[in-house]
Amino acid sequence: MRSFIITELICSSCGSRFQLPRTLPKQKPIGHVKDLWCPTCYEVTKYIEIGNLSLTHLKYKYDNGLELCPREERFLQALSQCSSSIDTIYDKEQVLHKKL
Ligand SMILES: [Zn+2]
Repeated sequence: MRSFIITELICSSCGSRFQLPRTLPKQKPIGHVKDLWCPTCYEVTKYIEIGNLSLTHLKYKYDNGLELCPREERFLQALSQCSSSIDTIYDKEQVLHKKL
């Protein structure tokens, strides 16, 4: 039997999320970047593997200068490589959720 893990990717432009089932051997690390068609941006954008990290929690730690774990560091690095930041996607995600 194959085990699947649902992982989550987040659009580096608009903060919308995409859930992807992956088999265990195909797990990608947090911060992995994937080109995906974004239904909100209407174009192919850089989606970043966020896995089970909490964006709210991460933003809180980041804003308060608390120590980040390596997975959180990797995610922030990936964001800056995609010319985005935690502030950008956090704010945009808040807007997205209000619209729904
Ligand atoms: Zn998007």
